[in-house]
Amino acid sequence: MADTVFSFVIPVFNEEAVIPLLLRRMERLLAAVGEPAEVIFVDDGSSDSSPTFLANLARGDERYCYLRLARNFGHQIAITAGLEAARGKAVIIMDADLQDPPETVLAMIAEWRKGFEVVHAQRISRAAETPLKRVTAHLFYRLINRLSAIDIPRDVGDFRLVDRVAVDAFLQLPEANRYVRGMFAWIGFRQTVVQYEREARAAGVSKYPLRKMLSLATSAIISFSDAPLRLAIWIGAVVSAASLAYGGYALLRALFWSNGLVDGWASTVVVISLLSGVNMLLTGVVGLYVGRIHAEVKGRPLYIVSRKIGFEAEAVVAPRVTRRASA
Ligand code: UDP
Ligand code: MG
Repeated sequence: MADTVFSFVIPVFNEEAVIPLLLRRMERLLAAVGEPAEVIFVDDGSSDSSPTFLANLARGDERYCYLRLARNFGHQIAITAGLEAARGKAVIIMDADLQDPPETVLAMIAEWRKGFEVVHAQRISRAAETPLKRVTAHLFYRLINRLSAIDIPRDVGDFRLVDRVAVDAFLQLPEANRYVRGMFAWIGFRQTVVQYEREARAAGVSKYPLRKMLSLATSAIISFSDAPLRLAIWIGAVVSAASLAYGGYALLRALFWSNGLVDGWASTVVVISLLSGVNMLLTGVVGLYVGRIHAEVKGRPLYIVSRKIGFEAEAVVAPRVTRRASA
């Protein structure tokens, strides 16, 4: 399939409930697109029946490809694996759960034809999602935008169309901590947004529990901002100024107003516990960055592929993200 125009990259983690619905919508979309396309399902270590189903599909239909990762590496890594395997002139990343309506892809393709290399799909409403998800997502996209020096489009997830040149640029970014939407904003090129309404999950449950959401948010902030580190300097400056003032007062008091009694027990306890709390907190912030550095320095491959079906025409699945040698 050397002439593949569109590659769809769909990460899948235990999505057996939604796959039949997804396939029906994909068939309709592929017909509407009307050009040679491949659909790459990246199985991120599913333990339900999705692997069997998708493997069979890829065996019987050359438009569908199946790439299985050796374990659950996470959504962002699964997307990266799909991008590495994709052969199309444009790659569309979308979720398996139909929250990203396949029909929006037609509008994205229209923008691509106008010459945009990155077309983000922006959520104008997320009426179908839980209030917790809506509020946290709203706050998060604004926070990351304030903290980061690059302009990461708001309310944009991983649903996007990316031209071949932008895919190749993306694959040159070697980091192990991949906040994919930030990385696409970082590479530049001509970018635009297409708006859509985020639908409810068609079936099954979210694979992003609060824990994974927090970890994605931390990754985003640490990869795209050093503001938390600078915060330490500001807090340090304020606390130092306060303690200088208080120290001066304590000295003057001891010299001129002391009545010989030992007092200040309460203030000592308060000051010491407050400062050790602030200290540990900021050490923790530094620790987060050190942990990320550690992950980068190890230089491990981003993922391990355990199975691939439907790529036989070309051996393209070997990882291309070049990681810096660590020694
Ligand atoms: N996903 C994945 N690996 C994970 C978690 C999720 O590949 O560890 C996939 C999942 O199958 C879906 C997409 O990423 O296709 C988005 O996940 P989900 O819909 O559960 O997240 P939400 O929309 O609730 O944020
Ligand atoms: Mg979803």
